Amino acid sequence: MPPVIEKLLKFLRLEADRGYDNRSVLGGLDQMLDPWQEEARQQDVPEAVIQVVVSRLRDYPQLTPASRKEVLGGIGARLRNAYPDLVGETQAAPPARAPAVTPQAEPQPPAPRPARDPDPVAAPTWNRTESSSLGLQVPVGTSPAPSADRLPADSQVAVPSDVPSDAENAPAAEPASDVAVRGVWERAEAGEDADWMEDALEDDELEDTPGSADAPRRPAASIPQAQPAGPAAQSGPAALAAPLTTISGIGPKSAENLSRLGLVTLGDLLWYLPRRYDDYSQLKTINRLWYGEEVTIIGTVQEIHLRPIRGGTMKLIDAVVSDGSGALRVTWFNQPWIAQQLTPGRAVVLSGRVDQYLGKLTMSSPEWEPLERQQLHTNRIVPVYGLTAGITPKWLRRVVNAVVERYASRVPDPLPLSVRQSAGVIPLPQALQQVHFPDSADSLQRAQARLAFDEMLYLQLGVLRQKQDWTALTTDPLPVEDGWVEHFRSALPYALTGAQQRVLHDLRQDLASGRPMNRLLQGDVGSGKTVVAAGAIGIVAANGGQSALLAPTSILAEQHCQTLRDLLPTACSIPVERIGLLLGSTPDSEKEAVRRALADGSLQVVVGTHALLEDPVVFQRLALAVIDEQHRFGVDQRADLRAKGNNPNLLVMTATPIPRSLALTLYGDLDVSVLDEMPPGRQPIETRVLRPPERSRAHRFIEAQIEQGRQAFVIFPLIEESEKIDAKAAVEEQRRLQDEVFPTRKVGLLHGRMRPDEKDKVMEAFRAGALHILVSTSVVEVGVDIPNATVMMIEGANRFGLAQLHQFRGRVGRSQYASYCLLLPDTEDEASSERLTAMEATGDGFRLAELDLEQRGPGDFLGTRQSGFAELRMARLTDIHLIEKARREAQRLFEADPGLAAPEHQELSAAVARFWTGGKGEIS
Ligand code: ADP
Ligand code: MG
Repeated sequence: MPPVIEKLLKFLRLEADRGYDNRSVLGGLDQMLDPWQEEARQQDVPEAVIQVVVSRLRDYPQLTPASRKEVLGGIGARLRNAYPDLVGETQAAPPARAPAVTPQAEPQPPAPRPARDPDPVAAPTWNRTESSSLGLQVPVGTSPAPSADRLPADSQVAVPSDVPSDAENAPAAEPASDVAVRGVWERAEAGEDADWMEDALEDDELEDTPGSADAPRRPAASIPQAQPAGPAAQSGPAALAAPLTTISGIGPKSAENLSRLGLVTLGDLLWYLPRRYDDYSQLKTINRLWYGEEVTIIGTVQEIHLRPIRGGTMKLIDAVVSDGSGALRVTWFNQPWIAQQLTPGRAVVLSGRVDQYLGKLTMSSPEWEPLERQQLHTNRIVPVYGLTAGITPKWLRRVVNAVVERYASRVPDPLPLSVRQSAGVIPLPQALQQVHFPDSADSLQRAQARLAFDEMLYLQLGVLRQKQDWTALTTDPLPVEDGWVEHFRSALPYALTGAQQRVLHDLRQDLASGRPMNRLLQGDVGSGKTVVAAGAIGIVAANGGQSALLAPTSILAEQHCQTLRDLLPTACSIPVERIGLLLGSTPDSEKEAVRRALADGSLQVVVGTHALLEDPVVFQRLALAVIDEQHRFGVDQRADLRAKGNNPNLLVMTATPIPRSLALTLYGDLDVSVLDEMPPGRQPIETRVLRPPERSRAHRFIEAQIEQGRQAFVIFPLIEESEKIDAKAAVEEQRRLQDEVFPTRKVGLLHGRMRPDEKDKVMEAFRAGALHILVSTSVVEVGVDIPNATVMMIEGANRFGLAQLHQFRGRVGRSQYASYCLLLPDTEDEASSERLTAMEATGDGFRLAELDLEQRGPGDFLGTRQSGFAELRMARLTDIHLIEKARREAQRLFEADPGLAAPEHQELSAAVARFWTGGKGEIS
C-alpha cells in the first residue's frame, strides 16, 4: 500500500476515534486535500481513488458528524476495494458477524467516552504525523478523546441520528469495548450503511424471523454463498413468499400502495430493481455541463412559471435553477403540479440530458426530486425506484433496504458453482444486494452482469428445450418424387435462383422427414419467397394435406391468393377452385362456404388474414401453416394456427433480416433457411435523402418516370396516434398532389380506414396501370408487388424505422427497370442524420436491421411482442457477447442434464420454469 494511503488511513481513523469532530487535522480534513492529492499522484495512486477521496472530503467540514461518519465509511469501502490487503490490516477486531453497535458504543461527541487503549494499528502514529511530509499539522496530544472545548459549535445538537434503536441492531454478540476500538473501516466492513439506510430501521423495524439473528447483515465484500439444502435453506425462499406486511413498517395501507406496483411479497420487493441510479459521487456543477450528457445536478429553484401554450391546450413549466456556478433553464410539459412543489428557494436534484435551446444549455423534462440532505451527503450511488401515489422515494428506499439487508443473503443461488465460475459471474445474493445499493460503479456493473446473465441463460435453456421438444414430435411424412420437383420448376414462368432451389430442397426434406417442420425462411424483400412457399404447399397437396397461408394485411393476402391461383394449377395440379381466400371482410355467407370446404377437405389451400385463426375455422387435415411477414404476427396467433392441425409443419417467412443476436434468442429454436440471392435482372435501388426544399425536385422526377411509362408510390407516415387523423392527412395529401402537383396524372389513395372493397379497387387500378401514383399510408409496407412501380417517395422518412424504410423501398425495383427511393425527412437536420444516410449507403437489409435493432431496441424492431418468456429486465437482446456466453453455458448444462433433474439443478430448473411462465405462449 502506498505510504500516502497509509497516512490517510491514520488520519481517518483518528477522526473516527475523535467522534468525527474534524479536528484530526488542524484546520479541518479538507485542508489536507491539495497536498495529499499531489503526493498521491507521485505515488501512483489510481486517479479514480484520488478522486473519490477528494470529492468526498471536500465538504467534510459542512457535514454533521453522522454524515461525516458515513463519508469516511464510503472512502474506507473504496480503499478496501483498491487495496484488498487493507482488510487484514484493519481487522484487529473479530470478523464482523453482526452489527455490534450499541448506543453507548457509538461515538457521540457530547458524551464522554470510555477510556481505552488506542487501536494498535491506528493509534501509535497519529501524533507523530505532526510534521509529516504532507506538511499537515495535527493537534498535539496523546488522547484521541475529544474534550469539550474542541467540539464543533453545532455538536451539541448534532446527536447522530443513526443510532440503531431496535433490538436487531444491538445484539450483545460483542463486548462494547470491542466495538469502541473498531474504527470506521470495521464498521463499514460490517455493512453499516449510510444514515438514510439505517434510519430504515428507526421506524420500520423488521419483525424478526426465526434464524435471522444469525443472518449476516449485508457484508459488503463477502456475502456467503447460498446455503446448502437443509432446514436453514428452506427458510430463505419460504420467507420471500411472505406478504410485505411482514415488515412492521408496512401496514395495510402501504401494502396496498405497493401492490399497485405489483409488489406483494418480500420477494417481489427484493426483485424490484431500481429504474436508474443517481450517482451522487459524480455530481456536476452547472458551469461544467456539456451539451448532450446525462447528468445529475443539485441546485436551487430561482424562479418558476406555469404558462399555457398551444392555445391553452398544454401547459409549460419554465424554471430557472442555479447552483452558484451558473443557472440552467429547465422545462416540463403538462405537469402543472410541479410548479406547486418546486417553489422558488427550494433545493432540487435534477437528472436528465443536457439540451440546448437558442444557444443556451437547458434540461427538458428531467427527473427531479426535492433535495434531501442525506442524498447530498451519502456520497454513493443511490437507487431510484419506480413510484406510485402514496409512496415517497425515501420511504421506498428504506423499505427495500430493510428487505435487501435481511433477505438478499438468503436467496439461494440457482447457478451451480461450476457455471458461475466458467461464466465469471458473482453470486446471486451479492448481485441482488449490489444492484440495489451498489458500493461502486464497478460492483453495480458486476451485479447487473450477473442478473443479465441469468436471464439470458434461462432464455437459452428454454429455447434449447423447446427445440428438443419439437424435434421429438412426429407427423405424417409428406414425400415427393424428384419428378414432381422437376415438373414444378419447369412449369414456373421463370427459372428459380440457386438460393430458391436450395431452400425448396430444405423444405422438401423437412416435409418428408416425419417430424414437423419448424423453419424460418429469411430473404430480403424481392428475393422471391412466395414461390418457394408455393412449392411447399404443392408438396403438401400432392400428399393430400391442406395448407394455410397467413398474411398480415388483406391486401397482401389477396395478392398471395392471386399468385397461388396463377402458379399452383399448372405447377402443382391444384385446381383454382380448391384455393380459397378468407378475410375479415369476406361476407358471412362466403366465409361459411370456405369454412365448410376446409372442414370437408374440398379446399386444399386457404390464404387469409387473422380471420383464419377465428375459432369456427376447422381443417380436415392441416399439414402446413405458412406465415408470411411473420414479425407482424404475435406469438399467440402462431400458436393458434398450429393448434388447428395435428403437429402441422410450420414455415415462417420474413423479409426483415434477423440479426444474429435474435437468431440465437427469439428464433433460437427454429431452423433457418436464407434466400441470399436476388432473381436476375434486378437493379439496385438508388436511394436519395432530400432536404425538405427539394420536394418539388422529387415531384419533377416522378413526373419524368411516369412519362417513361412507370408508376410511383408516395408514402405518408402516421401523423397522429390515430388512424382517423392519419387517414385524413393522406386524403388531403392525395387531393393536393392530384390537384396542384400532378393535375394531368391519376393519383390514387390507399389507407387503413378504407373499406376492403375500396382498397381492392385501388390496388387493382394501380396494378393495371390505371393510376400513375399511389398515395398511401404504411399499409403498403409489406409484400405488395407491383413490378412497374419504380419510384418510392417517403414523406416524413425520419419517423420510420430503418427496417420499415427498407421494406418500403422493396416495393420498387421488382423489374428490369431502374428504380429509386426518395426519402424526405421533416427537417433539414434529419436529412443528414446517421439513420437516413445509412439508407443511402447500403441496400443490405441485414446491415440495416442490425442498425435498427441497435437504435430502437427489440420491442420496436419486432413490431409485436414476440417473446414467450418473462420480460428481460437486465439482459439486452442485442448483446451478442452475453448471448453467446449464455448459450455456451446453456448447451453445456443441457448436454449434461437435459431435464435439469440433478439435485444441484433444482433451483435452476425452478428458475427457468418461472422465467418461461412469466410470458406466455411459445416462441416460433
Ligand atoms: P418476397 O421475397 O419479397 O416475398 P416475392 O415472392 O414477392 O418476393 O417475389 C418478388 C418478385 O420476384 C415477384 O414478382 C416474383 O414473381 C418474382 N420472382 C420470384 N422468383 C423469381 C425468379 N427466380 N426469377 C425472376 N423473378 C422472380
Ligand atoms: Mg413477400
